[in-house]
Amino acid sequence: MRRGVVSFSVVSVFSCFTFYLFPFSLTESPQAQQAPAPKTYDLLLKGGHVIDARNRISEVRDVAIKDGKIAAVAANLNAADALKTVEVPGLYVTPGLVDIHAHTYTGTGERGSYAGDNSVYPDGFTFRVGVTTVADAGCAGWRNFEDFKQRIIDRSKTRILAFINIVGNGMRGGKFEQDLTDMEAAPTAEMAKRFPGLIVGVKTAHYQGPEWTPVEHAVEAGTMANIPVMVDFGTGRPERPVAELVTKKLRPGDIYTHVYSGLRGELDPSGHVNPGLIEGRKRGVIFDVGHGGGSFLWRVAVPAIKEGFLPDSISTDLHIGSMNAGMKDMLNVMDKFLAMGLSLDDVVAKSTWNPAREIKQDGLGHLSVGAVADVVVLRVETGRFGLTDMNGARMDSTQRLMCELTVKDGKVVYDLNGISRPEWRTLPPDYGPAGDGHWDALNPARGTTPGTQRGRGGAQPAAGPARR
Ligand SMILES: [Zn+2]
Repeated sequence: MRRGVVSFSVVSVFSCFTFYLFPFSLTESPQAQQAPAPKTYDLLLKGGHVIDARNRISEVRDVAIKDGKIAAVAANLNAADALKTVEVPGLYVTPGLVDIHAHTYTGTGERGSYAGDNSVYPDGFTFRVGVTTVADAGCAGWRNFEDFKQRIIDRSKTRILAFINIVGNGMRGGKFEQDLTDMEAAPTAEMAKRFPGLIVGVKTAHYQGPEWTPVEHAVEAGTMANIPVMVDFGTGRPERPVAELVTKKLRPGDIYTHVYSGLRGELDPSGHVNPGLIEGRKRGVIFDVGHGGGSFLWRVAVPAIKEGFLPDSISTDLHIGSMNAGMKDMLNVMDKFLAMGLSLDDVVAKSTWNPAREIKQDGLGHLSVGAVADVVVLRVETGRFGLTDMNGARMDSTQRLMCELTVKDGKVVYDLNGISRPEWRTLPPDYGPAGDGHWDALNPARGTTPGTQRGRGGAQPAAGPARR
């Protein structure tokens, strides 16, 4: 109520002011002050082929967004009901991509460390390839998670979730990651419970010794916090075979990443998928790609896929050692599975709804009405392309995915070819930013962004939506 009173008095003062200074404009000024009638939708993506695995949609549909949420998905929504309509015929419209294996705890200045220089600032690598959510894969442990949160998570536009490392010091290199005494379940679980919905799993990685301790303690922490464990199984050791890991040590819902690395016996000596992995999948263990700089080989992936051992989720393992090597970005990893014969529907499912479910984030990775409006517009380009693995071996391909438009929380955050922008000659000679803050995070005109005080109408800021 109080806000209404304040707004009213601002308008009244402005009216009097107008009257005394510009009496001739009396007939115009009340109209000029009236906000345009609110539209049903802020943003409408029209005519694209929607792929939404959760809702079993793979057909041409319009997608409408209002207040940062999906408002409607249907054939032939009316463009007149939308503040902004973007025509996307011939393109694919999917949920924002969810990359559950990335390394983003940078900025500490620590050399040679994933809690430092080896990680990347996520915003430089995400929206341009359609990724709206990443899960950091264990860069921080319970000792430095809060530093990671304030340094990166809270300051990024990308939605960042995290697997907390079972190592208290996180992924700071050998001295720390091989220290069995710093792998404590209780403080790890405690930190995870302090940040539910942000810490979505426990990670164990890079262990070289023969002991099961890192896995056992990670599972213990995951059980206490009721979140899954993601395993990078480190050095392959006969004392702890991968078959035993996925058939005995891990729980259903735990995640085995780097599944096509070939480094820990994912294929048996005869070149077939390790029967233990098949058994593990039957138990409900999840298999994730985690391509990275050293965890994807054609000679492992191709025979595995031919035998039907597909990944549950596609992820990058993005870091400074992978991003310019065989692994380029999320779309490049998706391209590899298209090249191996998976359908686009399947590849999108494994990059959206599947990973969201794996980390128990059921609100992400789909386009249900009411869901967070993270939406991507993709183009399938055809031509002659090459895709390389961790050893630099190439597979030729004839199609690749390009990201045309990325929408996060209902606003355009990336637009490769300006499909949401006006042609410049249609604008006034002295044009300024022409977007509207209801749908545009890139070039909103002053006063169009809901929840800011810059508006002309004297509106007070609404409480901003929660970040996640
Ligand atoms: Zn990794």
